[in-house]
Amino acid sequence: MIEVKNLVKKYGSHVAVDHLSFSIEKGQIYGFLGPNGAGKSTTMNIMTGYHGATEGQVIINGHDILKEPEAAKKCIGYLPELPPLYTDMRVEEYLYFAAELKGIKKGKLEEEVEQVIKLAKLKDVEMRLIRNLSKGYRQRVGLAQAMLGFPEIIILDEPTVGLDPKQIIEIRELIRKLAKDHTVILSSHILAEVSEVCDTVLIISKGKLVASDSPKNLEKLMAGAESVEITTKASRSEVRDILAGVVGIRDIKTEQYKDGLTYAKIDVVEDMDIREEVFFAFAKAQKALLSMNNTRVSLEDVFLELTQSEKADEADYEDADYDDEVDIENDEDEAEYKDEEDDTDESNI
Ligand code: ADP
Ligand code: MG
Repeated sequence: MIEVKNLVKKYGSHVAVDHLSFSIEKGQIYGFLGPNGAGKSTTMNIMTGYHGATEGQVIINGHDILKEPEAAKKCIGYLPELPPLYTDMRVEEYLYFAAELKGIKKGKLEEEVEQVIKLAKLKDVEMRLIRNLSKGYRQRVGLAQAMLGFPEIIILDEPTVGLDPKQIIEIRELIRKLAKDHTVILSSHILAEVSEVCDTVLIISKGKLVASDSPKNLEKLMAGAESVEITTKASRSEVRDILAGVVGIRDIKTEQYKDGLTYAKIDVVEDMDIREEVFFAFAKAQKALLSMNNTRVSLEDVFLELTQSEKADEADYEDADYDDEVDIENDEDEAEYKDEEDDTDESNI
């Protein structure tokens, strides 16, 4: 349905998107997950024909976004990071205007606008000026605009950013509803967001695709998914001896605590539960087992590991606040690249 091949986007010497390739199949919800500055918006802007790429290709339902932009764009509804709302217009008026721009036929205008107003639950505010609406309602107007014409693919860039928890739940519900008849691609720098609603997560870090799978498989990908942590009075070597007879262990890491206790992290073969055997093995050896916990690798761990190993690779990385950025909107950065846009990206505007 969408084929992205070897996409590269450079701003001057800065590589914002670095040889990105993936494909999107019909009927799923896809999530682009990555910290701020990872290249999510840039990728979406290229996929939707807003920006040109430095290299690579985007094919939408067989149409190259550069060679047949009209045919390709017809398949897509897009809600950019900053929705293009005309705030002096009333909601209904704006949606009629957007529908005309999208080339929806006169005879169908009213019906289509009515439909998206209903879907996005905008009936109560259809006569209000957009500028007087809350952020949550504005976002819904943006969503309604993206839905106009009922394109097969709906692309939403950080659809819940800046919304309060109640509004976030409402938008999520709307996205799930949309996904029944559309393929939805959304981006977020918040993990919970993506794992909550998406069938497939594409983790992007520094313009590169570092992983793509279902949230469940991504969790499995790391460390075989599960491990058991124990503390015991046995010594490190005794721990290894005792566990030698237990089936289903992939790896054991031990650590000696100051108080003479030993901590061990036992990585377990997929889908095995070894806790009972561990318990009896220690009992048989007459060594006290003081605690035992099953630990699952969370998607959060996967996300951090995947996006951080990129960071470690880069010797000249100096931004120590990087981790925090995952949750902060970096307005300063944004202001910076808006300026740069004028001189580096003119050809694509
Ligand atoms: P994300 O949406 O994942 O937060 P972006 O796609 O907005 O990331 O940005 C990716 C990188 O490209 C960032 O380092 C950003 O500073 C840079 N960038 C984005 N747009 C421009 C632009 N118009 N000019 C120069 N640099 C840009
Ligand atoms: Mg962005």
